[in-house]
This record gives sequence, C-alpha cells and structure tokens, in this order.
Amino acid sequence: MKRVLVTGGAGFVGSHLCDRLIGEGYYVICLDNLFTGRLKNIAHLMKHPNFQFVEQDVTIPFKEKVDRIYNLACPASPPFYQADMVNTAKVCFLGTLNMLELAKECGARILQASTSEVYGDPHVHPQTESYRGNVNPVGIRSCYDEGKRISETLCFSYHLQHETDIRIIRIFNTYGPRMNPEDGRVVSNFIVQALKGEDITIYGDGSQTRSFCYVDDLVEGIYRMMENPDFTGPVNLGNPGEFDMIQLANLILEMTKSKSRLVYRPLPGDDPAKRRPDISLAKEKLNWEPSIPLKEGLERTIAYFKEEI
Ligand code: NAD
Ligand code: UDP
Repeated sequence: MKRVLVTGGAGFVGSHLCDRLIGEGYYVICLDNLFTGRLKNIAHLMKHPNFQFVEQDVTIPFKEKVDRIYNLACPASPPFYQADMVNTAKVCFLGTLNMLELAKECGARILQASTSEVYGDPHVHPQTESYRGNVNPVGIRSCYDEGKRISETLCFSYHLQHETDIRIIRIFNTYGPRMNPEDGRVVSNFIVQALKGEDITIYGDGSQTRSFCYVDDLVEGIYRMMENPDFTGPVNLGNPGEFDMIQLANLILEMTKSKSRLVYRPLPGDDPAKRRPDISLAKEKLNWEPSIPLKEGLERTIAYFKEEI
C-alpha cells in the first residue's frame, strides 16, 4: 500500500483530497497545525485504519517514509495570510524546503500547491503557464504571492539539482463545502452574508473578475497531476468561466432568495483586476477539465453553509 503525506490536510482542499486518497486505497498521513484547518473537516476519517493525523507545523522537519507528498500547508485566504505575513512567507519557504528534503530522502514524488497569484495582477489574459506574471514584491499580498513563487523555484531547483520528482499545480479560486464560514474569501463571505440577511460586501466597484472552480473538479485535477508519469508542470487548474463580483453577488442573492443589499467597501491593495486560467495544458497533458458549472457548485456550497451556520 502506498503511503501518502498530505500537508494542510485538515483544510478546505486538503480534507477533500484526503477523502479521495483514502478512497483510492492509500495510507494517508495528514499533517496540519490547524491554523486555518479544522478537525471537523477530517473527523469522519479519524477512526479509519488507513488514516493518521499529525498535529505539526510544516516549518518543523518531519521524518516518515512516504511515496507521495502533497504539499498544501499554507493559509490561502487573504485576511489569514496577511494576519502574520512573516509566518506566511516562512511557511512557503521553509515548509516547502522541509517537504522537498523529505521527498529527496525517501525518493518520494512531491506535488506543490501553487496558485494563480504567481501571475499577480496579470497583463496577459487568460493566463497561460508561460506568462511570468506581474507581481508586487513589496505589497500586502507579497508574502503569499512571492512565497508561492519561491516555493515553485525551490521545487524546480531540487528537480534540476537532485532530480527530485516534482509536480507543480497553479490553483485558481476554488470553492465548496468545508470552507470555513469565517474564512474571508469571496464565495464564503457572500453566501454567509446572504443566508444571514447581512449586507453583501463588494470590495471596490465589483468589476474585478475571478474564475471559480468547484472543489471536486480541482481534486480530480490534483490527483491526475500527481499520478501522471512524467509531466512536472507547472499546470493551471481552474475553471475558465469568468465572473465579476457583482455577477457573483447577484447569482448568490437569487439562489438564496436573500434580501441582503450590496454595499461597497475599499478595494484591498494589489487586488488583481482580472483572472481566468487558460487550461489548454491541463487538457492536453492530463485530459482534465472542470465538469461542474458555477451554479451547480454554488447549490452544493449553499446547502453546506445552511447546515454550517
Ligand atoms: P485552507 O486555509 O483551508 O487550508 C490550508 C491548510 O494548511 C489548513 O488546514 C491550515 O491549518 C494548514 N496550515 C497552514 N499553515 C500551516 C503550517 N505552518 N503547518 C501545517 N499546516 C499549516 O486553504 P485551502 O483553500 O484548502 O488551500 C490549500 C492549498 O491550496 C494552499 O496551499 C493554498 O495556497 C492553495 N491554493 C488554494 C486556492 C483556493 O482557491 N482554495 C487557490 C490557490 C492556491
Ligand atoms: N471580495 C469582495 N468581497 C468580499 C471578499 C472578497 O468583493 O467579501 C473580492 C476581492 O476583493 C477579490 C475577489 O473578491 O477581488 C476574490 O477574493 P478572494 O479573497 O476570494 O480571493 P483572491 O483575491 O485571492 O482571488
């Protein structure tokens, strides 16, 4: 039986990935310091004979014989990654370094969860993997954006220097059940606000765009990327549907039948104006593309938040 380490496995994406890997018959070690993750996300796995939870910070070296490492540990929501910027940069650098060392020692394959943020506020639209980005190295998002860029650099340096077997995915905005209602990202904020009848907070004028991928589609792409024999990436994983924040808010208001009002708040610094993945490479190399449209994914997510809040 293959042994798999999932860092950040108690988080939103990580917990769905753990479910998938258990389903595929792996022995799964979930390492998480519970900074933004929650034990309730993995409660159903705790008694499974092939599942082990280790409460640990990824910046502390971890030794265990494993065949695969999915490195997801890192706060992903702007309010959380900006709450302790030095720590975010440290998780991206030291956490990834520790996992690459472990991969090198065990001869394990490692997949790094990178992000569309490596493109910053993009001048190329939609974003292709060959675009090198427009990132501010000294803004409020830099700890995360530049952090993820150095994570990619570390992976490629280990690959080129030590022949470490790496996979890099650039995840675009993903949403779904198990998001923390307090997480602060746009889909969870809007749904929670709509369900509670509170004001919907639009940052800026709401004309900025994002592309939203349902979590099950993402997990399928992550798994395919890890198990493909030789393609290191980086590869974009996201849903190419593109929506501005007013469209998203109105769709959620309609679907929840909420009477909440839209209110406008200042746009945070360096907030990208537009974002949409070009997924040609994922289609070609992984035969992957998302299958769940926004409305269907939102239905499932709204049902989850109705139970959660
Ligand atoms: P999340 O915050 O729910 O999950 C992150 C997990 O990492 C949490 O369980 C958290 O407790 C854990 N963690 C944070 N710091 C840690 C540390 N020092 N040591 C051990 N564990 C630590 O966020 P998510 O949306 O599930 O994101 C998972 C990964 O995917 C992250 O690396 C994120 O950067 C990346 N990503 C996500 C998205 C998205 O839209 N969801 C987009 C781009 C990239
Ligand atoms: N946003 C918003 N209202 C909110 C939360 C976010 O208008 O309550 C906007 C935010 O400014 C950004 C977009 O929604 O333009 C996506 O934000 P999120 O934090 O989900 O992800 P990211 O900015 O990292 O793509």
